[in-house]
Parts: sequence; structure tokens; C-alpha cells
Amino acid sequence: MAASVEKQAGASETGVECDVVVVGAGFGGLYALHKLREIGLSVRGLEAAPDVGGTWYWNRYPGARCDVPSLFYSYSWSPELRREWRWTNRYAGQEEILNYARFAADRLDLRKLIQFDTKVARATFDEKNERWIVETDRGGRLGARFVVMATGGLSVPNTPDIPGVADFEGAIYHTARWPQEPVSFEGKRIGIIGTGSSGIQAIPMIAQAAKQLVVFQRTPNFSVPARNRPLTDEDHESFDAGLDAYLASLEQSDFGRVPPTAFTADVPPRDAQWKHYEKLWQEGGSGGFLKAFPNILVHPGVNEVAADFVRQKIRETVKDPKTAAALSPEGYPFGVKRLCVDTDYFDTYNRPNVELVNLRDEPIEKISVHAVDTAARHFELDALVFATGFDAVTGALLAVDIRGRDGATLKDAWSEGPQTYLGLTVAGFPNLFTITGPGSPSVIGNVITNCEYHVDWIAECVTHMRRYGLATIEPDEEAQVAWGRHVAEVADRTLFPKANSWYLGVNIPGKPRVFMPYIGEGYRTTCKEIVADNYRGFTFGEAAVREQAAAE
Ligand code: NAP
Repeated sequence: MAASVEKQAGASETGVECDVVVVGAGFGGLYALHKLREIGLSVRGLEAAPDVGGTWYWNRYPGARCDVPSLFYSYSWSPELRREWRWTNRYAGQEEILNYARFAADRLDLRKLIQFDTKVARATFDEKNERWIVETDRGGRLGARFVVMATGGLSVPNTPDIPGVADFEGAIYHTARWPQEPVSFEGKRIGIIGTGSSGIQAIPMIAQAAKQLVVFQRTPNFSVPARNRPLTDEDHESFDAGLDAYLASLEQSDFGRVPPTAFTADVPPRDAQWKHYEKLWQEGGSGGFLKAFPNILVHPGVNEVAADFVRQKIRETVKDPKTAAALSPEGYPFGVKRLCVDTDYFDTYNRPNVELVNLRDEPIEKISVHAVDTAARHFELDALVFATGFDAVTGALLAVDIRGRDGATLKDAWSEGPQTYLGLTVAGFPNLFTITGPGSPSVIGNVITNCEYHVDWIAECVTHMRRYGLATIEPDEEAQVAWGRHVAEVADRTLFPKANSWYLGVNIPGKPRVFMPYIGEGYRTTCKEIVADNYRGFTFGEAAVREQAAAE
């Protein structure tokens, strides 16, 4: 294994030879650096931002908050980190989460391993030497046996190409690239495009500050209240008391949005559902809704009651019936586009300074120097906010020119949609790992624990390779095809494909319509079985046996 690269960090990357290059310093990348260093590998991190945190570094728009409860949206593997960090709110805000990532990086002494402000431009597998050559946008060139892509599923912003946008002379913001310096909307006329999770969080906050807020909505979303609140001592005590059970449950957890009972469960009576949803609505948060009944995401009749319930809440909250109707999602099932979680979102439309523009009735025709023109109206604006989401799951992987065996590009390999084995590896791209990649639970559920599982899997795999002197690992084409088919079959048995969501890539023009996350139960079990069955579906290259023998 290559000598430690720690002392070289901070200098130019050129000439660095290490065991592993980790791309990205969000929660997945930070844990990968820590874990792989812990098992004795020399590691080097490359990060485009000037700091750690990944998506939580960039998404600092007003109202940005995680909708997984903070006590769970934390590293589960370290009792020390857990003891030394105390979350303040049921749902942590962006700043607190970013501070947690910084705290973890400092506490684990990871910063010296990371080259910040550095984007990976290209990664090429050198077949002769069985090493990756990683090239950066700063002209750096590193060599590594393994590349771990910890680039995140929600990291490449999507900015739609609306005619005239370049002419707009006011400020333009994107929720996923929010400026570091404070942004004041005081006394200004603001337009916001997009009503997904980011828009739904930002809209109530911007409305409080702006003189006027115009919301340009294409598709209304289902949203449930967060009911965020400060955590009490009792909350912490009760979490600590249940910690062992929680950690054990994670160990056995099979992730999966859709439980095996989903297809055989009884249809609960409408009244019982309604009562249960009312309770969940008062408690707040999305987790309860998504597993309210085992068949909520597979049975159209059961799902429709949940959809009706939310529409009823919208009608009760929004005073203007026309606005309430425009805000009510119709024509696609509940919970199969990412369920939004809000604070006072629907109530915000009762404010006199907020106007909803239904783009289905009056699409945007053009943006000009000071205005947005729809098919029906002209809106003079001082600033525009794009809350238009991401090129999700595959965007950051395909943003790097990745070349595997025979110079084949990942872009070509995925031209008809991503293909992976377990969402972790790609046929023809040896020793390349994709943390929370397509075909894994990925962006579903708690992404931090999803990342942890992948990092642990990679560490175990590399340990196995070292033990047996194996140089390369890559999945067999047949195993990959079968896994891809399974991922699609599971999704097709649910209501998920019935909505035009970013899970399917349809928000990006030209992106193949493929359901990207694995939503079945049994992911961890399958991964463990494959390992126990001598890494079924993988081929290992054995050149390292000779390499090691020669070195000894
Ligand atoms: P998103 O869910 O993809 O929403 C993008 C919004 O922009 C949609 O309303 C979309 O409308 C609209 N849009 C896109 N292109 C448009 C165009 N050309 N004209 C008009 N409208 C356009 O993106 P997001 O809100 O950033 O959220 C993405 C994901 O990030 C979430 O689903 C979630 O996983 C994560 N996130 C989580 C949190 C949290 O934890 N609370 C917060 C923010 C984000 P259509 O629906 O019609 O395409």
C-alpha cells in the first residue's frame, strides 16, 4: 500500500499516489476517509467546496432544514461523536447540520486529508497498472487503487433554461448554490420558481421578509407540517435510553420504502385511515405518513385517502378557494414524489404580499430585464430564486469524465439509464465505488445511515481483497443486468412510477426515464448474502498476488 499521504495534503495534488481517492467531503466522504484510513489505507479527499458538508454546505437558503429528525440524522457508528454533540431541534437547520459536519471533520482530524476547492474533472482506469488516474480542475493528477465517489445524490443544481434568463438584471439565486453572505429581501419584489422541498421551505421565510413574493408553481406538491420544536432534556434522555435498540435495529435494518407486507395487507377502512392521518398531522413529520399503512405506496385506493386528507387540509388552511385548488396536488399519488415537510407553507398563501401563479394555466413565456412574463401576465421583480432542484442521483457521477476498461466512458455505459450492481459498483469500472449510487436505497430514507452502510461495505470488501491479495473488483455484466431488472421490477410494483419525479430523472431534459433508487426491503440482507456467497456476481482480479509477492 502507498505511504501515508497526510503530509502531502494542502500541497498540489500532482504526484500523490495513494490507495484511495475519495471524491466529496459530505457525510459519506468524511466517513469514507475516516474508515478507510482506520483500516490502514492511505486516503486522499477531493472536494469542490471550500469546506466540508456536501449538500449542507451549498443549500443554505432561508428555511433549509432536514426532515429526518436530528437525533437520527447523525453518524450512528461513533458513540464519542454522539456523546459530544447535542442537537438543539427536532429537525436541525442547515447551519447546525453544517456545524455538525465540521465538528466531525475536526474531531476525526480529517481536514488534512482533503484538498478543498478542487473539482474532479476526469478519472481514468489505467488497465496496465490497475490504478486510477484522477485529474482535477486545478491541473492536479493523482494515482489511486480505488476511487470512492461520495458525490451525493442531490448535489448538481438544475437550472432550467428559460428564454431570456440571461437578460434579467436583478439578482438570481439558486437554493442549492445560495451565497455565503447574507441575502436581504427587505422591501423587494421576489419571484421564486419551484415548489419542491426547497421551495416549500424557502417560501414562508422569504414571504416574511419580502415586499412581494410571486410563487411560480408548475406542479403542486403534497406537504405535511414539520412541527419543529426545540429538543428537551427528556427528548435526549428518551433517545439515549433507546439508543442500543436503535443501533441494533440499524444493524438489522433492511431499508426499503416498501415493506414485503405491502402487497398482501388489508385495505384499512377510510375512517381509520383518516383518524390516523389526523394524528400524524398533529405530530408532524413525513416518516409516519410514509409508513402509515403497509400498502400506502402500492394500493391506489389506500393512497387516495391520504391524498384526499392532505387536500382537505389545504382547503381548510388556504382562505382563497382558487389558490387552495391550485395548491392541491391532483393526478399523481401521495408520497411518491418526495413528500415535503413544511413550516406554515400553506398558510403563507393567506399573506397579502404572496401570490401564487399557476404555470399550468399560464406558463412562463420569457424572462426579461426586470420581469417574468407568463402567457397571461407581466411580473416586475427585483430578484429571482430558482428552487428548481437537482440533476439527482446520477448528475454528480456523470459530471466527472469517468473512463473504465478499454477507455469506455460511464456516460456511454449509462446512456440509457444508470446500471450498477447494488448501487455500489459498475461493470467495466474496476475498483470504483459509488456511495448511495443509483440502484441502492440512495436518497430514500436516512441518507447518512445509507452512506455509512456503503462505506462499511467498501471497507469490508477492501479488507477481503487485501487478505487474499486481490487487485481489482468489478461486477459481472449478468449480475448487474439482473440487479437492474430487480430494482425496476420492485419500483414497477408500486405507485412510484406514476408520478413525474426526480427519482425517475424526468426533471432533466433528455435524461432517460429510469427509476433510480432501490425501494424494496432486503437491501442489506442481499448485500450480506452476496458477500457471504464469496462475493457472488463479482469478479476479482488477482494480479496483486504477484505484485505483493514481488514486493515481499
Ligand atoms: P425538486 O423537488 O426537484 O423541486 C423542483 C421544483 O422546481 C418543482 O416544483 C419543479 O416543478 C420546479 N421546476 C423545475 N423546473 C421548472 C421549470 N422549468 N419551470 C417551472 N418549474 C420548474 O427540488 P428541491 O425542492 O430542491 O428538492 C429536491 C430534493 O432535495 C427533495 O426532494 C429532497 O430529497 C431534498 N431536500 C430535502 C429537504 C429536507 O430535508 N427538508 C429540503 C430540500 C431538499 P415540477 O414538479 O413540475 O417538475
